[in-house]
Amino acid sequence: MLEAHTARRYTHRMTIKAVLFDLDETILDRSRSLELFLTWEASEFLNLPFADCERYIERFLELDNNGLGDKTEIYSVLWKEFGLYEQTAAELAANYRNSFSRFCCEKRHVDQAVSVLKSKDYRLGVVTNGPSPFQENNLEALGLTQFFDTVVVSDALNVRKPDPEIFKVACSNISVDTEHCVFVGDNPEADIQGANNLGMYTVFVPTRRHPACSFANKVCRDMRDLPAVVIEADGAGNH
Ligand SMILES: [Mg+2]
Repeated sequence: MLEAHTARRYTHRMTIKAVLFDLDETILDRSRSLELFLTWEASEFLNLPFADCERYIERFLELDNNGLGDKTEIYSVLWKEFGLYEQTAAELAANYRNSFSRFCCEKRHVDQAVSVLKSKDYRLGVVTNGPSPFQENNLEALGLTQFFDTVVVSDALNVRKPDPEIFKVACSNISVDTEHCVFVGDNPEADIQGANNLGMYTVFVPTRRHPACSFANKVCRDMRDLPAVVIEADGAGNH
């Protein structure tokens, strides 16, 4: 299993034609967006007593398990525990799907990074695990859809990162071979290992949840540095 966690070593510079991004916690500041949404939901939408709001938010986050929890199940639990009987659990889950995007905020300097990369003629894409059209709506809410040539969402394809298929679909959509792609993401297994397996050049974005990844080609803490990281990986540079 040792080699399963090894990035390809690049002895020669490669030609980079495209940069693919993960969405949650790479482009979208999901933690912050969710905190803003839940604060609104608890205090204004559900009109919970002030004393219950913090407890409600904490319980949601616990059940959410960093986005992995099924929202209908989460709301069924909350519905019961907080006595939210004015609506059904299904209606609460629908409110989440419909209202979350209003609270979406991006990770710092992502807009700057993507606009610089776009101006240098790199093709750009998003590859995300999550529901569709929820994820597409969130990207749209950030005002970033225009920069991306393809947006691939696991729910629409029925395959999730790190399955190679989802990366291949994104590459095929923009007519770029996998080895001419940079992949930027915060999840060591789903993003970095998944993209490493296809020979992509991988850029890890550290977060509180995943502070380190030893098998990425590069680490990028500040999105303003990303264009330089891509250009450095790109041997040809003649786009
Ligand atoms: Mg992510």
